[in-house]
Amino acid sequence: MNGYKRRDSIQVMVGNVPVGGGAPVVVQSMTNTDTADIDDTVKQIAELSDAGSEVVRITVNNKEAAAAVPYIVEKLDKKNVEVPIVGDFHYNGHVLLTQYPECAKALAKYRINPGNTGTRTRDQNFCTIVEQAIKYDKPVRIGVNWGSLDQQLLAEKMDLNNALPEPKESKEVMMDTILESALRSSKLAQEVGLAEDKIIISCKMSGVQDLVTIYRRMAAACRHPLHLGLTEAGMGMKGIVASSAALAILLQEGIGDTIRVSLTPQPGGDRAEEVRVCQQILQSLGIRNFIPQVTACPGCGRTKSTYFQELADEIQGYIRDMMPIWRDIYPGVEDMQVAVMGCVVNGPGESKHANIGISLPGTFEEPKAPVYVDGEHKVTLSGDHIGREFRKMLEDYIIKNYGAKEVV
Ligand code: SF4
Repeated sequence: MNGYKRRDSIQVMVGNVPVGGGAPVVVQSMTNTDTADIDDTVKQIAELSDAGSEVVRITVNNKEAAAAVPYIVEKLDKKNVEVPIVGDFHYNGHVLLTQYPECAKALAKYRINPGNTGTRTRDQNFCTIVEQAIKYDKPVRIGVNWGSLDQQLLAEKMDLNNALPEPKESKEVMMDTILESALRSSKLAQEVGLAEDKIIISCKMSGVQDLVTIYRRMAAACRHPLHLGLTEAGMGMKGIVASSAALAILLQEGIGDTIRVSLTPQPGGDRAEEVRVCQQILQSLGIRNFIPQVTACPGCGRTKSTYFQELADEIQGYIRDMMPIWRDIYPGVEDMQVAVMGCVVNGPGESKHANIGISLPGTFEEPKAPVYVDGEHKVTLSGDHIGREFRKMLEDYIIKNYGAKEVV
C-alpha cells in the first residue's frame, strides 16, 4: 500500500489484540485518572475504547491502584468494554504484582521501565516482574524512556566511552545506552523464561529526530514488535504536529506495530483526543481507516460565508459521534470519503473523487449546491435546508452501501 511495507516482527497477543507479525498497527492510549478511583477510571477507559483505542494503559503506582485493578476489569466486562488493560509499573512493580495476584491476573500486559526497577536490586526486581508475567501468561512491554534511563548502565557506558582514544559525543553514548537497556532487558527476560513472543519494546524520546534515529536502530536490532510514540509530546498543536512528524517517518518505513500519541490535555480536556490523533495519522498515511474522511477546502476569498465551514464541521462531528454505532452495524463505512467544498472551482472535482460530496455556492454564485454520489451528479440542493438534506443523503448512502445489521 503506497510503498508501505511493514518490518517483519514476531506477533505478541495483548489480550485478544495481536500486535506485530503483520497485524494492523494498533492504536493505544493511557488514562490520566487516579486508578484507585474505580468509577472514574472505568468511565475514562470506556470513553477511550469508544473513541477507538484498542489497548488502554493505566498506571499501577501504589497498593490502592493495584487493589482497584481487578474491580476495574470486572466493571468493564459488565459494560461489555472488551479493551485489554495494561498496567504501567515503575519502582514497585515487583512488589505490587507479587502482593496483588488478582491485579496481575486481570491485566493483559505489564509495562516495565528498566530504568525504574531499582538500583542495586535492579535486575532482581525486573526478573520478579518477568516471573509474574510467566506465571500468569502475560506479555510485557520493555519501555525504555530517555527521561528515566537506567543510570547505572549509562554510567558504565560513559566510563567505557571516556576510556576510548576517541570518545563519542555523550548524546551518542546515551542513544547506545537506550538501545542496550532495551535489548539487555529483553535478553534477561528470556533467560528467566519469558517467551520471545511475549515481549514488545519501546524506546521513547521527546525529540523527533532522536526518536527516528533510535527506532531505526532498534528495528534493525531485533524482531520484537515496537510500540511507537514520542514521549512528552506536549500540548495542542505542538504535540500533534511533533507526534505526526515523528510517527509518519517511521510508519512509512514499516516501523511501529502499536502507537500512542502522548498529548498533554487542557485541564478538563478530552483524553480521547490522543486516540483520534493516532487514528488520523494512520488514516492520513493510508495505513488503516477508522472513520469516513471529510475532505473540506480551506476556503478563500471566493466564499465569504462561513456556511461551508459550519457544514463541514457539522458533518465531521456527526460522523464522529455516530462511529461507535456505525462501526458495528455498517462494516466498511470507515473507508467512505465525503467532500464538503466551498465553491464550484474545486468543489465538483473533489466531490467526484469522494463517495458523496457537495459544493456549496461561493460568493456571487447561484445559490445552489450540486451533490455528487459515486462520481455522478445526483442532485442540486437549494434553499434553507441544504445541510439537513445533505446529511439525509449521507445516511441513505451509508445504509445502502454498508448494509444494516439489526442493532442489539
Ligand atoms: S473550492 Fe472554492 S472556496 Fe474552496 S478554496 Fe477552492 S476556490 Fe476557495
